[in-house]
Amino acid sequence: MIEHDVLIVGGGLAGSRAALAIAQNYPHQSVGLISKVHPIRSHSVAAQGGIAASLKNVDAHDDWLTHAFDTVKGSDYLADQNAVRVLTQSAPEVIIDLEHLGVLFSRSEDGKISQRAFGGHTNSRACYAADKTGHAILHELVMNLRRLGGTIYQEWYVMQLIYEDGINGKEIKGVVAYSLETSEIEVFRAKAVLLATGGYGRVFNTTSNDFASTGDGLCLTANIGLPLQDMEFVQFHPTGLYPVGVLISEAVRGEGAYLINDLGDRFMANYPISKNRMELSPRDITSRNIACEIMEGRGIDGGNYVHLDVRHLGREKILSRIPFAREEGLRLAGVDCIDRPLPVRPTAHYSMGGIPTNIDCQVIGIDSKEIAGFFAAGECACLSVHGANRLGANSLLECVVFGKRAGEKVGAYVSDRTMPDIDPRPYLTNIETKLKGILSKQGSSRIADIRQQLQDTMTEHCGIFRDDQRLKDGLQKLQTIRERYENDLLVDDHSTVFNMELMQALELQSLFTVGEIIMSSALSRQESRGAHSREDYPKRDDANYLKHTLGYLEDDKVKTSDRPVDMSLKLIDSDLFTPQERKY
Ligand SMILES: Cc1cc2nc3c(=O)[nH]c(=O)nc-3n(C[C@H](O)[C@H](O)[C@H](O)COP(=O)(O)OP(=O)(O)OC[C@H]3O[C@@H](n4cnc5c(N)ncnc54)[C@H](O)[C@@H]3O)c2cc1C
Repeated sequence: MIEHDVLIVGGGLAGSRAALAIAQNYPHQSVGLISKVHPIRSHSVAAQGGIAASLKNVDAHDDWLTHAFDTVKGSDYLADQNAVRVLTQSAPEVIIDLEHLGVLFSRSEDGKISQRAFGGHTNSRACYAADKTGHAILHELVMNLRRLGGTIYQEWYVMQLIYEDGINGKEIKGVVAYSLETSEIEVFRAKAVLLATGGYGRVFNTTSNDFASTGDGLCLTANIGLPLQDMEFVQFHPTGLYPVGVLISEAVRGEGAYLINDLGDRFMANYPISKNRMELSPRDITSRNIACEIMEGRGIDGGNYVHLDVRHLGREKILSRIPFAREEGLRLAGVDCIDRPLPVRPTAHYSMGGIPTNIDCQVIGIDSKEIAGFFAAGECACLSVHGANRLGANSLLECVVFGKRAGEKVGAYVSDRTMPDIDPRPYLTNIETKLKGILSKQGSSRIADIRQQLQDTMTEHCGIFRDDQRLKDGLQKLQTIRERYENDLLVDDHSTVFNMELMQALELQSLFTVGEIIMSSALSRQESRGAHSREDYPKRDDANYLKHTLGYLEDDKVKTSDRPVDMSLKLIDSDLFTPQERKY
């Protein structure tokens, strides 16, 4: 059995920022960070466009309250305002912090950190390192963590949370993981566990996310009977490169790109909701408009995409501000955006929902009470600062603000906690049996085929537009595909060294659980809000649905319940923070 004061699962921005905060503030505590990929290969490394903070380097009148208002309005009023307050008030200080850790942000002529425009933000407040912002930040965090001596278990796959009776009732006591390199199974015991396992883009067939974004942390949490919050809110990013789905950053629109349909129109002007902010409207609105253009036959040549045009920016600006977007267009679509527009369509990008936590990153249960020994941060958590729709550049910010805060809080939390008692044997036997069970599957269905069916079902039945019948049919189909997985799977790689087939079989279980909770939550919310568009309930319904959805497993079935939204910023400024119609 391996032991640490704190165990962190996930080495992306949230996990590594948390580990670093503990190493900086509680140097005597031992921290173990487990990641199924090398930490620097976590999806955070792919973040491009920027990280938001009211630094006032471009717009001198910007301030945290305006940032908070943009975030709450962007969330379609579903964000918890106490969490938004922490996010936006702490933003300037965490950027300076990152700079002191060595992050090389792009600079303006006068030497200040540059800030660009982003969708839904009133002022230019996204700080960036060209269009490789995540890369610049994650490398420095992991380097600093190594320098301070954090222990990293890379290429270990966490399969189970240990949640059992402790001194004062049920508590989280550690995890069970297996090494992808050697297939060795280990129980890791800790005084607290922090999940920072990222998103679940791979639930859909077109996504900007990496292969590892399979929602494992969400599934681990659901498997112990705890709820997931607001899972119906899936962000489809407007500009996935067609047909592959990889992201063309919002930075490209921030720098002034146009969205054009087959008629050559900048069609954002034709929708009343987006006619002022045009291409810089929030993502839910922009994605819906693109989907409408395509459905109504105004995709390019009547096809499934529209154009993103940057030619008017000129070669020099393209090469200095958005070099990576140009490179992606060239490499993956054979299009040089200096001369030709890029083909784009919406792509599954971000999970607004996740493991519910309070503002100190402690996981809470259905009754809103804290779960002892359990914390979550980053994209897998739902604080909720993004509500029904996240603004661009607010996620890296969430990871850094709440990663740091989670580290500080968990460090304080374990200071007076004793190491829990665990008998590791039943856990080891259980996981060994589970792995053997998968390896013995000799049916006729390949993992890739089953996964494709699941992803197609999610996209078709729970994509940008939803309705009651499509969701019910989708849930039925998921059930059938899952039965195929249980009864007819074929696993023919039996090696014990980097058995990727085995890992993909495990990830597929996460995709099933997460997919089912997303669909059930979407079915239960009979209104349209933010990224959740119900064709049968096209209006927002504050009287009945200004509340968070909770989806949880009971006897293997998904049940739903709800929780109130925090409205505390209304006390500071009731005009701004009282729900009103959203227009840009
Ligand atoms: C292409 C792209 C561009 C983006 N650009 C921006 C941007 O410009 N600005 C912005 O604000 N946001 C952006 N985002 C969103 C943002 O990057 C992510 O939300 C954020 O980086 C998530 O960080 P994280 O630390 O929560 O998780 P991740 O970085 O996804 O890390 C998850 C970690 O969990 C580990 N893990 C998962 N499951 C297991 C398991 N079972 N066992 C062990 N380890 C596990 C993984 O190995 C990994 O280390 C972008 C996202 C994408 C996909």
